[in-house]
Amino acid sequence: MDCEQLAPLYEEFALGVLEGEERAEVEAHLARACPHCTPGIEKARWVVAQLARMSPEAQPPQSLKRKILDAVKSTGNVAEIAKASPIRAAFPVWAWAAAAALAILTGYSILFARWEIKTRSWPTCAGR
Ligand SMILES: [Zn+2]
Repeated sequence: MDCEQLAPLYEEFALGVLEGEERAEVEAHLARACPHCTPGIEKARWVVAQLARMSPEAQPPQSLKRKILDAVKSTGNVAEIAKASPIRAAFPVWAWAAAAALAILTGYSILFARWEIKTRSWPTCAGR
């Protein structure tokens, strides 16, 4: 295949879905630093990366999660799936840190308010 024939395949290669002979052809062009295909693939990878950033974050349905876990259980590789739990990835570390900081600040504010109420000298009503 020549470069012109490979050009329509750049996006599929960048997405990682190109297979077989076509994939091997693109890899061969990249291996010899083809001046046409190399920048074409780089551009396709950039486009794929931008598309990935633009897509909204979504949680897979529980039925899909169950099917994937069942499939992995049947192969006996459960430990690997447990390490890559999508639940952990959906709630990033910075969000946990922010939640912890908010909880500490809220607790401190409540304790300070209680202490202030107990120790403040409240004015009395002079007219009664
Ligand atoms: Zn080429």
